[in-house]
Amino acid sequence: MNAPIASSEVESARCPECRAVVAVPGEVIITEIVDCDGCAAELEVVAVGPVMLTLAPEVEEDWGE
Ligand SMILES: [Zn+2]
Repeated sequence: MNAPIASSEVESARCPECRAVVAVPGEVIITEIVDCDGCAAELEVVAVGPVMLTLAPEVEEDWGE
């Protein structure tokens, strides 16, 4: 039987930073990082079905004490 959803399905979510629509692979998993085409922000997948994105914490060389 053919599944109604192809494995190449793409979901879209909104960038929380610039509100651009970001295409996310349908197979994406939580904690995966995707790049926003609008503002080049790194976005972390925090939920799937529907996909929700949040700004990924920036990796800086400030580790604190
Ligand atoms: Zn953006």
